Order: sequence, then C-alpha cells, then structure tokens
Amino acid sequence: MRTIQIEGPGVLRAAELPEPEPGPGQLLVRVHACGVCRTDLHLLDGEVEIPRPPIVPGHQIVGTVIGRGESAGAGAALETAEPLEIGARVGIPWLGWTCGRCRYCRSGRENLCENARFTGRDIDGGYAESTIADERYCFALPEGYSDLQLAPLLCAGLIGYRALGMTGDSERLGLYGFGSSAHIIAQVARFQGRRVFAFTRPGDQASQDSARKLGAEWAGESLTPPPEELDAAIVFASAGELVPGALRALARGGTVVCAGIHMSDIPSFPYDILWGERTVRSVANLTRQDARELLALAPRVPVRTDVHPYPLPDAGRALEDLRAGRFQGSAVIDLDR
Ligand SMILES: [Zn+2]
Ligand SMILES: [Zn+2]
Repeated sequence: MRTIQIEGPGVLRAAELPEPEPGPGQLLVRVHACGVCRTDLHLLDGEVEIPRPPIVPGHQIVGTVIGRGESAGAGAALETAEPLEIGARVGIPWLGWTCGRCRYCRSGRENLCENARFTGRDIDGGYAESTIADERYCFALPEGYSDLQLAPLLCAGLIGYRALGMTGDSERLGLYGFGSSAHIIAQVARFQGRRVFAFTRPGDQASQDSARKLGAEWAGESLTPPPEELDAAIVFASAGELVPGALRALARGGTVVCAGIHMSDIPSFPYDILWGERTVRSVANLTRQDARELLALAPRVPVRTDVHPYPLPDAGRALEDLRAGRFQGSAVIDLDR
C-alpha cells in the first residue's frame, strides 16, 4: 500500500509498505480521508518527538472497516459502545491506546495516561491507503457528512471541543488563531449561545472574513484589544506571545486555554494581568467521552467544515500550505483520489 512517512526531522517520504495485519481487538481500515493537523507539522519539524521513527503520520482518519483480528476477549468488548462491523464507516482519532491501569486512567482522565499511544506518533496513522486501530478507540460516525468533511472533526474538532469545555459557561469567548479548530469551534460556541471574538495573524483579512461568516461578532489582529473584555480565550496558535495578550483581554475570573501540543516559549508577564483569579491552562489530547459528545453534537449544530483535499503524494504540499496559512478551514488527504 502507498504511504507517506516521517523518517526524521524534516524528512517526509513516500513509502510502499505491506498492508498491516490486525492483531487481537484491532480493526483493519481502508482509509478514505485523513485530516492534516498542526501536530503533524510539529512531528515533521521534530518539535514533538517520534519515539520510534519512521512513522506514518495522520490522526484524523475516516475509513471503512475491511477486516478484524481475533476477539480481544470479553473485557475489551465491554468497553466498545457499539460493535463496528465490516463495512462500517469509522473514525480513528489521536488517542490510540491507553493502559486502563494508571492513576489517570482510573480517575476518568485517560487523556493523561502515562502509557498512552497516539495515532500517527506511536502507531502508524492515516497518510496511507490502510491502517489498523484498536477497536475500543474507534468511533461510529454521523450520517450527513462526506468522508472529507468528517475528518477535521476527529482532532481539530475534538481537541477544540475539549478546550471549549474548559472555558465553563463563558459568554464572551476569544479564539486566537482562526484555523481548522477555530472554524469548527466557533460554530459550536455560537450554537451554545456564546459570543465569539476571533483573533488572527496581523493582516490576515481572509481569516477574519471567514470568522465573521461563521458567527464571530468581532474579528481582528491577535494583539489588538477586543471591543470588550472576554470571559475566556482559547489559544489555538502555537505562538507563546499570544498568552499574555489573551490574558490582557480577560475579565476577572477568566481562563486562557492553550490548545496546542507544542507552543513557543511564553514571555514573562506582570502578575497584574493574572491577578483577579484569572487562569492559564493547557488541554492535552482527548478522552473517548469527548469524542462521543462532539460526534453527537456536530450534526445538531450543524457543524460545517471547510475542507481542502490533497491527493496522498501531495501530503508535503498540504503541510507547507498549513504552515504558510494558505487556506481557510482544514486540509484533508483524500485517499480516494
Ligand atoms: Zn493509563
Ligand atoms: Zn491533531
């Protein structure tokens, strides 16, 4: 099968690999679409470590179950909400496996599992014609969406949704970096009755226009003060200097949630802007509960994703277009092309 692999920092290469064989409890999935995430760029750039390279990246996978390994036993089967039959359309997210035994797993925080394995970092992912995945971490997907439209929900949507949950009942929500995640979460936030303020790179009129179209009542440059104080902000961009900027925009008691897996250093800032019970926190990975909630909510909003398909051999171009901010919404690798 055709794949694209990250061999080491900066090295992306096409590789022909044998179709993987599913082990106990695993599904063999024919990949139709795989979303391109900023984390893929961090992996390529060596900013997020790949423990055992080479690896096939890609962790927003939409595909069809075409095979399965033998049963993993009764215990594992109980964890699967609904069996995913041969022929079913499934989603495979970043969280690929957790141990179920560490203090985080035992307290409902599998996203923090000490032994977790992640799709496209520890387990070969979706920049490939086929992949295998642990059935317990795969999801049935809602109707009414094409494969390409669904893919960005599986990380941009899920991590964004988890970050949104950390803003509590905030009414005035700032979104810093209006890319794949923000264009989904703006729609969810509006549906929940929140007011959305979008912050983009200086001069990025196209992203500001896109934010307004998706319901933002104000859109401006990242370090411009918004017209009123915010109750919460989510920083999707990986630029640490946005954090003090977002703190300055907050009302008392407000929260800044950093939603990326990697961020440049946060510059020091005066205690004044944190005072007043303001909080800065990160969001890490996702739980399966996050996925169940968002995949049920998305069709009710309904969330519409703006997708830009690239054929598999052009994965490198997709990543560079993401780096340069050359498109609105989400890049998706189209395996059916
Ligand atoms: Zn664990
Ligand atoms: Zn991701």
